[in-house]
Amino acid sequence: MFSQNRFVIQPFVWIGFCLLLAGRTVGQTSTPSFVDRHGALSVKGTQLVDSEGQPVVLKGMSFGWHVWWPQFWNKDVVKWLKDDWKCTVVRCAVGIEPDGGYLKSPEQSTQLVETVVDACIENGMYVIIDWHDHHASSHLEESKAFFIAMAKKYGKHPNVIYEIYNEPEKESWESVKSYSEAIIQAIRQNDPDNIILVGSPNWDQDVHYAADDPIVGVSNVMYTLHFYAATHKQWLRDRADYALQKGLPIFVSEYGGSEASGDGILDIQEWNTWVEWMNARNVSWCTWSISDKREICSVLIPGASAKGGWGSADLSPSGLHARELLRKHNSQAISREKE
Ligand code: MG
Repeated sequence: MFSQNRFVIQPFVWIGFCLLLAGRTVGQTSTPSFVDRHGALSVKGTQLVDSEGQPVVLKGMSFGWHVWWPQFWNKDVVKWLKDDWKCTVVRCAVGIEPDGGYLKSPEQSTQLVETVVDACIENGMYVIIDWHDHHASSHLEESKAFFIAMAKKYGKHPNVIYEIYNEPEKESWESVKSYSEAIIQAIRQNDPDNIILVGSPNWDQDVHYAADDPIVGVSNVMYTLHFYAATHKQWLRDRADYALQKGLPIFVSEYGGSEASGDGILDIQEWNTWVEWMNARNVSWCTWSISDKREICSVLIPGASAKGGWGSADLSPSGLHARELLRKHNSQAISREKE
């Protein structure tokens, strides 16, 4: 009798259990990602805006040159930067001129950048594809071919931002502008709308020249300003304010708390002043860099795991501060949106 009851009841228990499980699975909606919430970006005046036309500010990390720190360019690190560091954007510094860079090893370089871009799409993060070249005007055809391929492959994804010239050195704005117009045209033939970041002369400090003579007849273009807090101080903020007042949209795609060499001293006070300046103006930023070189601006200590999972002991003083800022500012942005 007892065992017969068990025989009758058991199938109902199992069916109930399965229905409960199915209900939970159907009812479970995963939290929308940052890109799910903001969608395709565009530029309105000097402001980066989301698909609803609302201001959006991206804050995250730049990977170091892929030629020297390829071990960090992987899915695990991207996910760690999202989950633990609260990054909403990462930047792929695709090395061009050094050995192992795009000019000599285009396939391997492309494969690595695609690994990171695909991981960002999967994780709902924005991603900057950065032609990390101080002499891009000398590599116009190579750059054009690269960005055409990227635009064809990724132009339909809201995640992707193109940075077409990292830190021109001793080159006039006229020359940088002419290069930029050619690359913008090549990208726009394949992707009508994703954000394009244009460099400015003198390692991305001379935004005032771009402000006086911006590229016209294009949309969703912003200009990069780079600073290293222990070298570039109020005079560069004043210059950037001049550019913003003239209507130039600015994106800080790279900065560090060190001197311009990437080393020297770490100036936390000036770094914080810059963060206040950027926050007050809704300027987006990426910190340089995810690398484990023994230098001030590298955020990891030598030998840090290539899979992420870093604790405080794995981070340099720059890394500790960069992580703290991202957690503080991006968590605030996310919780404000939920209210
Ligand atoms: Mg597009």
